[in-house]
Amino acid sequence: MKVIIIGAGIAGLTCALACQRAGFEVKIYEKTSRLQNIGGGILVWPYGIRYLNWLGLSHCLDPYWVPINQCHIINHQGEKIFSENPDHFLNLIGGNILPIERSHLQQALLNELPAACLQLGKMCVSITENQQEARVTFTDGTEETADLIIGADGIHSQVRKIINDDLAPQYTGFCWWGGIVAAEDVPHFSNEQSYFTLGLGKVCIVWPVQDNKFMWYLPVKMPAEMLAHRDHAFAQLQLLSANWNTDVQKLIAAASTAQSFHLPIYAISPPTHWSTSRVTLIGDAAHAMGPILAQGTSLAIEDAYVLTACLQKINADLPTVLRQYETLRRDKYQRIEALENQSTSTMLIEDLTTLEQLQEQMRQLTLTTMYNELIPLVNEKSSTDILHAIDAVQFADAG
Ligand SMILES: Cc1cc2nc3c(=O)[nH]c(=O)nc-3n(C[C@H](O)[C@H](O)[C@H](O)COP(=O)(O)OP(=O)(O)OC[C@H]3O[C@@H](n4cnc5c(N)ncnc54)[C@H](O)[C@@H]3O)c2cc1C
Repeated sequence: MKVIIIGAGIAGLTCALACQRAGFEVKIYEKTSRLQNIGGGILVWPYGIRYLNWLGLSHCLDPYWVPINQCHIINHQGEKIFSENPDHFLNLIGGNILPIERSHLQQALLNELPAACLQLGKMCVSITENQQEARVTFTDGTEETADLIIGADGIHSQVRKIINDDLAPQYTGFCWWGGIVAAEDVPHFSNEQSYFTLGLGKVCIVWPVQDNKFMWYLPVKMPAEMLAHRDHAFAQLQLLSANWNTDVQKLIAAASTAQSFHLPIYAISPPTHWSTSRVTLIGDAAHAMGPILAQGTSLAIEDAYVLTACLQKINADLPTVLRQYETLRRDKYQRIEALENQSTSTMLIEDLTTLEQLQEQMRQLTLTTMYNELIPLVNEKSSTDILHAIDAVQFADAG
């Protein structure tokens, strides 16, 4: 089978690797002229790691593991209201969470693919299909054909617009700042510890990553049009955090000169169907959610693996296989999305009395009670016969 993937984000690269391992002929087309480092870190949950390991990546990920021995929740004045060693929780979710700079994960995936597999500077503008093939056209006027085209082109997906123009991403109601900062610039944070600080209409999450650094992200409830221009974005964040606890203010001061980003956050609920006969979507192109539960990357990796396994394992015509893939993915995604929305409205509180009530309630929690509804979902493996088959897939040279 000949497969074309549009977009070389984590979804597209993982899918290319899975397709290649499954013996398909695969090519990725990416619109940018070099893979961009948008400046952040991501958390990959154990179910995402499981697929990366099956694709033979475990040795590439080895250098990035950072142990966590304490998770702290901190109230808006800076008082620790909860500290826990996460071992029991990690055991329940199937292993450690991998904190990794997005560009490092992209590079690790890219290193496993033949160089000829990726073509940069190719922006998809249109796709047509007939019974024999699908055809993509790029802005430079060139065209390519394949049996299947996979849109892995992110939240503002052009492929999604082509196959279903009604699906516009929705603004989540918050913008976020984030990035990577050197540990020496934030000496008030300890290595091997993570910090989740509550604030009025905002939260700040800090997590250690490889090479003595911390990744951080800080969503703030605000209208998208209020987000300041790049030159003023850090001054705006400093202003928004002026009455917050001083550890967060010190982080923001240090981060303003380090690798960082600021963006409005959009989400997309998965539609009833996101495939035609020869075109489908994976990752943020198909579904995207807010950042509180940090599931986007793991779900994108799982999409890539499940789609490839469906293509390899299901003995049916392509439209039927694509429908099966969607059915498998939509259900899990919708349940995680519901939890993400619930967590966002619980955590991002703009009223001081309600925030103080939440902080009091959180004193009684543990990581296990806090994530009690997410734990079974991230552990879900084989609820149907088809997933049993997929779990059993052994790609030719998976490590
Ligand atoms: C700042 C930030 C922080 C995040 N943090 C986390 C986290 O901690 N944990 C987590 O699980 N998730 C996180 N996410 C979400 C996560 O990054 C994504 O869910 C995941 O990486 C899957 O992305 P993707 O590959 O589907 O899309 P993207 O990463 O958006 O990649 C899409 C690719 O397609 C290319 N492209 C777009 N249009 C075209 C076109 N027309 N033609 C050709 N190429 C095209 C783009 O240039 C890009 O390279 C974060 C997202 C952002 C933006």
